[in-house]
Amino acid sequence: MSEVRLRFAPSPTGFLHVGGARTALFNWLLARKQHGTFVLRIEDTDVTRSTQQSVDAIFEGMKWLGLDWDEGPFFQSDYFPVYKEYIDKLVAEGKAYKCYCSVEELEAKREKALAEGGKPKYDGTCRDLPPQEDDGRPYVIRFKTPKEGATTWNDLIKGKVSFENAELDDLIIQRTDGTPTYNFVVVIDDVTMKITTVIRGDDHVNNTPRQILIYQALGAPVPVFAHVPMILGADKARLSKRHGATSVMAYRDMGFLPEAMVNYLVRLGWSYGDEEIFSLQDLIEKFSIENVGRSAGVFNPDKLLWLNAHYIKTGDPARLADLLIPFLKERGVDPAQGGPDLVAVIKTLQERAKTMLELADGALFYYRDELSYDEQGVAKAFNADTPALLTALVEKLAALPALDQANIEFAFKELMAEKGIKLGQVGPAVRLALSGTTASPGIYEMIEVLGLEQTKKRIERAIAVLAK
Ligand code: GLU
Repeated sequence: MSEVRLRFAPSPTGFLHVGGARTALFNWLLARKQHGTFVLRIEDTDVTRSTQQSVDAIFEGMKWLGLDWDEGPFFQSDYFPVYKEYIDKLVAEGKAYKCYCSVEELEAKREKALAEGGKPKYDGTCRDLPPQEDDGRPYVIRFKTPKEGATTWNDLIKGKVSFENAELDDLIIQRTDGTPTYNFVVVIDDVTMKITTVIRGDDHVNNTPRQILIYQALGAPVPVFAHVPMILGADKARLSKRHGATSVMAYRDMGFLPEAMVNYLVRLGWSYGDEEIFSLQDLIEKFSIENVGRSAGVFNPDKLLWLNAHYIKTGDPARLADLLIPFLKERGVDPAQGGPDLVAVIKTLQERAKTMLELADGALFYYRDELSYDEQGVAKAFNADTPALLTALVEKLAALPALDQANIEFAFKELMAEKGIKLGQVGPAVRLALSGTTASPGIYEMIEVLGLEQTKKRIERAIAVLAK
């Protein structure tokens, strides 16, 4: 293991969304690539907005994507005493101070500053007060931001970023109720967890100079930062529910495979020549922050669908079968209760299905006893000659030494030669009889998967129902 340490630090205030999942993925990839450590930290200090349900949703989303963590999950809410220690230390060293200004006073100052056309910044009233004995007056603790100079870092994605310290407020690090504030606890955690690289959304860029100043005040090494551009919708507005689902797990429920999601997410910002298909294993080798672009990625559902179709088509049918079972059960089918082998069924369908929902819908006919038949298809495929042809076909199939595709094809050819017909005069009727539809897997494949008994049963039923 190297000394490289990265973390994913979600706030549990909702499900794992697409942007968060991408941040997690980038951190995970870099940790894996550099044989470093990936830490999961739940930023739950905002007690009113954090929920256990969200925590569970984050774990579920990460597990689904295959992003395992080496340390944690750590919960910030377990570390209040640690934050307190660091705050006391900064106060003792004169790097932070108690501020007794009331909310009303601050509001009045703010309004005054705004009216005068200035920035509504804390005016430093309490900054240089001599240390005060506690006399019951409420106070917050503020960080003493240097008045001069600039805070600069070399962002791995954005390049050099610099903020004038004069622009930064004396940040409140402890509220009147004694709880620490967000920017402070992030730094303390990153210090105590020895985080070396912080990859996060660029909505945090404004927090970074404030955080760097706190590292410096603590004499702690400042990590390297990489701020990833936001994800946008097709209209170039920040990705939101308006653009469709933003929860990662919603994509599972819509029939997407985790490998498609991972592949899609990584390409939202990162590129590697013009390659499009990457497994997690490829990515561990190929991923680098230097190849993350500076412009925002635009979420493209068609591309995600294309990738999903690719992974279904090339996926291991046995694994797809495991993943498909819940979707089938939702549709009232349990392959464990009988019917053809699900793996064999999937092999006939995976070529064409773009989602697991399509795969499930496509598999249903194999497990249904009483099919309803596509009416237009029936009108075209069935005529007075059809029953006799189908009956003859069944006889030929029954006489085959084994019901594999080559033999089945042979039986069809023989039938066509004997009756002087083309495949078009019997094939569509067989397809309807077996699947109820006009668009199904190949006829030979279906017969092989259904087996002789089911094939016979379905054809006989179709003759009885349709050949009127
Ligand atoms: N908790 C923050 C968020 O969910 C992330 C903070 C960080 O990565 O520094 O946006």
